[in-house]
Amino acid sequence: MVGHQLTPFNYRCTQCGRHFERDAVTYLCPHCSIAYQAGQTLCGVLQAEFDYDYIRRYFNPAAPDWQLFSAVEASFSPSLPVGQTPYFQAYQLESLSGLSNIYLKNDGLNPSGSLKDRASYLVVAEAKRKDIDTVVTASTGNAASALAAVCASCGMKAVIFAPASAPKAKLLQILLYGGQLITVDGSYDDAFSLSLAYSQRNNVLNRNTAYHPLTIEGKKSAALEILTQNGMHPPQAVIVPVGDGVIISGMYKGFYDLMDSGITDRLPRLIGVQAEKSAAIHRYLQTGCFSALKTAQTIADSISVAVPSNAYMARQAILQSGGFTLTVSDEDIMQAQQLLAANSGIFAEPAAAATLAGLLKDDCRNELNSKGSIVLLITGHGLKDIATPLEQMRIPAAQKPQAILDNMEAI
Ligand SMILES: *Cc1c(COP(=O)(O)O)cnc(C)c1O
Ligand SMILES: [Zn+2]
Repeated sequence: MVGHQLTPFNYRCTQCGRHFERDAVTYLCPHCSIAYQAGQTLCGVLQAEFDYDYIRRYFNPAAPDWQLFSAVEASFSPSLPVGQTPYFQAYQLESLSGLSNIYLKNDGLNPSGSLKDRASYLVVAEAKRKDIDTVVTASTGNAASALAAVCASCGMKAVIFAPASAPKAKLLQILLYGGQLITVDGSYDDAFSLSLAYSQRNNVLNRNTAYHPLTIEGKKSAALEILTQNGMHPPQAVIVPVGDGVIISGMYKGFYDLMDSGITDRLPRLIGVQAEKSAAIHRYLQTGCFSALKTAQTIADSISVAVPSNAYMARQAILQSGGFTLTVSDEDIMQAQQLLAANSGIFAEPAAAATLAGLLKDDCRNELNSKGSIVLLITGHGLKDIATPLEQMRIPAAQKPQAILDNMEAI
């Protein structure tokens, strides 16, 4: 069915359960976020709740119309194509791990090189709907470069507050896309507060992850694609690198929407991988009690998060899917980055390679079986940060052609 209206939806607070009309709220639940201060995990994150009977009525599995799951009218979509990334079986990784049905969803092939494009796409569409021409975000890199890219495609302004420690390629992307980059001599939390101050002062939209509910909605499109690409069956498990916990919540939301619309009958198990020294969500699942870390430290910059903004929802997502979390060391991540590249042809940034590091842990492998696909969500492209793997690799010194020729049998 083409040309239907937007599926009716409202926002539900993931903490108190209150419902709000679409235009009655913009960011967090007004009740639960009263005491919220920058630097804390977010309270009152909102989730779009659709009229699932409406989707049921109009969804045709033979010709799926995914726009039925969108929270913004298609007429506001940015022109930059985002998503529809490849999904394929990784046979060499099956030999490596001793498991079958290993699939890669390569979201590093999005326009700016990460899954963050999906969230930026939907938030920019929302800004267009609201007739706002500037979107601001605080980011350690990928969300910022994604926002700058999508804004560039529609002549909108992206304002970015980023800590100076972000990988150079990500900062360079922002500049090339024409984003206004303010590098903060301080932490990500400082950048977050500054972005809030900026959006409160001006008529701009704030895209901070989980703070704007459509960041979660945007990321769920990866789940909808995985379902189609997996022959309309939910996979057995999806392995997701976790920092703020928004990607894993988006995955959950996508599969949840599909189940509530009667399109699928179960959720895949969501397996969250965190870096050992940036594992606030893992610790939360282990202890049942949330506390932020003093500092987070990992080479995987995209999952280096001391105060995960979407901790509460991420925990619910993992538990309700029958999933779990595990941690990997920086050495595991570096090794997995090389193994992934050399056994699949995919050069992923360290955070994305953490999915393979997680899969290779016995704790993970023992939980999985041969029934149904095991999906590694490759969230970002390796070229975004070459400094990290270069520390482990040595580029061979140049030799004269004659010397190479003389030693040819040694190659
Ligand atoms: C943002 C990001 C993550 C982590 O997502 P969260 O929503 O912060 O958990 C993982 N990998 C890459 C490449 C990212 O950019
Ligand atoms: Zn609430």
